[in-house]
Amino acid sequence: DPTKLADWQIAEEAERSMKSVSRLAADWGILDAELLPYGHHLGKIDYASVLDRLKERPNGKYIDVTAITPTPLGEGKSTTTMGLVQGLAKRKGGVSGAIRQPSGGPTFNIKGSAAGGGLSQCIPLTPFSLGLTGDIDAVTNAHNLAMVAVTARLQHEAINTDEFLAKRGLHRLNIDPTNVSMRWVIDFCAQSLRDTIIGLGGKTDGFMMRSGFAISVSSEVMAILAVFTSLRDLRERIGRIVVAYDRQGKPVTTRDLEVDGAMTAWLMRASNPNLLQTMEGQPVMVHAGPFANIAVGQSSIVADQVALKLSNYHVTESGFGADIGFEKFWNIKCRVSGLKPNCAVIVATVRALKMHGGGPRVVPGKPLDVAYTEPNPALVEKGIVNLLAHIETVKKSGINPVVCINHFHTDSPEEIAIVRRAAEAAGARVAVSQHWLKGGEGALELADAVIDACDEPSDFKLLYEDSLPVRARIEKVAHEVYGADGVSYTPEAKAKAEAIETDPSMQQFATCMVKTHLSLSHDPSLKGRPSGWALPIRDILVYSGAGFIVPVAGDIKLMPGTSSDPAFRRIDVDVDTGRVKGLF
Ligand code: ADP
Repeated sequence: DPTKLADWQIAEEAERSMKSVSRLAADWGILDAELLPYGHHLGKIDYASVLDRLKERPNGKYIDVTAITPTPLGEGKSTTTMGLVQGLAKRKGGVSGAIRQPSGGPTFNIKGSAAGGGLSQCIPLTPFSLGLTGDIDAVTNAHNLAMVAVTARLQHEAINTDEFLAKRGLHRLNIDPTNVSMRWVIDFCAQSLRDTIIGLGGKTDGFMMRSGFAISVSSEVMAILAVFTSLRDLRERIGRIVVAYDRQGKPVTTRDLEVDGAMTAWLMRASNPNLLQTMEGQPVMVHAGPFANIAVGQSSIVADQVALKLSNYHVTESGFGADIGFEKFWNIKCRVSGLKPNCAVIVATVRALKMHGGGPRVVPGKPLDVAYTEPNPALVEKGIVNLLAHIETVKKSGINPVVCINHFHTDSPEEIAIVRRAAEAAGARVAVSQHWLKGGEGALELADAVIDACDEPSDFKLLYEDSLPVRARIEKVAHEVYGADGVSYTPEAKAKAEAIETDPSMQQFATCMVKTHLSLSHDPSLKGRPSGWALPIRDILVYSGAGFIVPVAGDIKLMPGTSSDPAFRRIDVDVDTGRVKGLF
C-alpha cells in the first residue's frame, strides 16, 4: 500500500523479486555480447552493436511524456513515465522507457533522485540514485581534463620561451586568463565553489587566476552525451568545445589544446546507455542527465534509438512543461536524431490546475490549503487554460496529444469531469490514471489512450527549418509555444544575433531556449496562460560542441546551492543489512 510507505521502502520491496540484468536484456532481445553487466541487476548496452545489428528493423512507436507548467505541488512526470510503461506492458509485448540519470546535487538536496513514486518506479533505486555506473563521474573527469589542459597551458606559456615551446611542438595560444569561459565541475550543489581563485603558490603551482565551479550535469560534455548519434559525432562535438578566448578574442577549443581525444577516451564507457527496470520488470534506459536550460534536459538520443529498435512501444520522458521539455524534444532532440514521435502524453493534476487557476501559494512546511485538499471546481475551470496551451503546442508538432490526469485521492469526480471535457474539446485523448497507487493495473486507461493515439496517423514536423535565422526562430517559439506577443532584445543580444546570423558555421546549430519552466512566460510568478507580454532576450550564448545557440530569457544558475534542510540528512545505511535508506 503506497499510502503507508516511503518510496524507497516500496522500491526495496519490489527489488526482492526484480529480474537479473541478463534475463532483462535477453527478454528484450539484447545479445550476451551486447550487454555489459554491472553486478546482478543493471548493466550497460553496447549501443553501436545493437544499432548495427538491427539497422534494417523498423522502429517501434515513440511516445514522449511531458506536462502542464510545473508547480510546487508536483505533477508526477517520472511516475507517469514508469506507470505508462507498466500499463502498456499489460496490453502489448515489447515496451520500454527512458529517463535521465539524476545528479548528486538534487539527490542530496531538495528534489530527490526522481525515479518515479508509489508503485511506478525505476529500480534498483540505490544505484539509480547514487551514481549508477559512473557516467556523471566520467563527464566530470572529461570536463575537468579540459580545465587541466587550459590552466597548464597558461602556466607553461607564461614561464617558458617560444623556443622551449617549439621544441615540444607547441605554438603560443596566447590565452586571455581573464577570458577562460569554462569552469571546473563537481556534481554537488556547492555554492561556495561558484567563484574561486586558483593557482595560489609559486611559479610551478599553476597560473593564478579567477575561476569557479559549475555542477557536472550543466557541463557541455553532458549536453553532448545527450545528443550525440555516433562515436564519430561524439568525438567531433567534444573537439569543438570552446574553453577560453585568446588575447584577440578568438575562441580556443579543446582541439586547440589537444585534449579532445583524451576527453573522448574518458567517455567511452559512459557513451553506452544503462539498463534498469520498472517495478514490474520492463526495461528502462537511463542515460545522460543534462540541464534543461543550456541543454535538452532529457535522456540521450542513443538510448531512444536502441530502445526503438528493440521495442514496439518506447516511452521517453522530456519533463517540465510542454513549452520547455516537449519543445526541446521536438525541435532539438528529434531534429538531431531524425526520429519521429507518434504521440505525447501531457501529465496534469487537478491540484496543479487549481494553482494555475489562481489557487494560493504553497508554503513549505505548512499543510496544504483547503483549495487543494477539498473540491473546488471553479479553480480547476480557471486553471484549465494552462493545459489547453500545452495541448495546442503538441498539436502544432503534428502528433497526437494524450492528457494523463495523474490521480490524487483528493480529486473529485466533478473536477476530473471538467478537465476531461475541456481537453477532449481541444482535441486530446484523456485518461485518468492511478499508476501511483496501483502500478500498471492502474494505468490501463492511459495505456489504451496511448495505443489509440499511436494508431492514428500523425504528421510530425519541426517548428522551423534549419535555414530560419536565429531571431525568427526565437520569435516563432515565443509566439507559437509560449504565447508571447513579441520579443525584445538588449543591444548586446541583438549584436550577438546579427553575428550568429551571418556566420555560416552556426547554420546547423539547434536553438536551445533559456526560460523559466514555472510559467509559460519569462516571469515565474505568472500562472495559467499569461497574455499581453513580450519575451525579453538579454543575451545569446553559443555552445559550439553541443551545437546549441542559447537565447537567454531567464536566469542560468549553473551551480545551485545546498539548502538548510538537505535530503542528505535523512539518507543512511542500515549497518546490519548494508541497505541504503531514505532515498527518494
Ligand atoms: P516530476 O517528475 O513531475 O517531478 P515525480 O514523478 O518525480 O514528479 O513525482 C514527484 C513526487 O510526487 C514523488 O514523490 C511521487 O511519489 C509523488 N506522486 C506522484 N504522483 C502521485 C500520486 N498520484 N499520488 C500521490 N503522490 C504522487
